[in-house]
Amino acid sequence: MVIFDLQCEGLHVFEGWFSSPDDLKAQLEKGMVICPICDDKNVHKIPTASKLVRSSPSEELKAGASTALLYKHQQDFLRKVHTHIEKNYEDVGTKFADQALKMHQGEMEQKGIRGSATKDQVHELNKAGVEAVSIPKKPPTKNQIN
Ligand SMILES: [Zn+2]
Repeated sequence: MVIFDLQCEGLHVFEGWFSSPDDLKAQLEKGMVICPICDDKNVHKIPTASKLVRSSPSEELKAGASTALLYKHQQDFLRKVHTHIEKNYEDVGTKFADQALKMHQGEMEQKGIRGSATKDQVHELNKAGVEAVSIPKKPPTKNQIN
């Protein structure tokens, strides 16, 4: 069996099970595939998520496209980002928004800082033209889990 993601003219997305890609083609041509939500017969195949992952340039993902692997990849990347930030940016804690704004306005020497800010503070900074990005929390390393 092969599972395909299908979409009707009404943009409903659903899964269809077929014995082969040719079977899908034949059934689509005969109008035998019908949207389960609105009974529309104008259905076409859409690219599936797994195919999009497989077309990634990363060799590791090509070798075994799985959600678990993709997740691990993101966690590793995030750890590297955090390591870089911890090394190169000064931790100013909750004074982050205040200092970032002062630097932007030239009241303080420019430097790389990190710290915590509320969503509203980040919004205010962005409005003032300050580049501030929030980064997801550092994922725990293996021996920190539990
Ligand atoms: Zn539909």
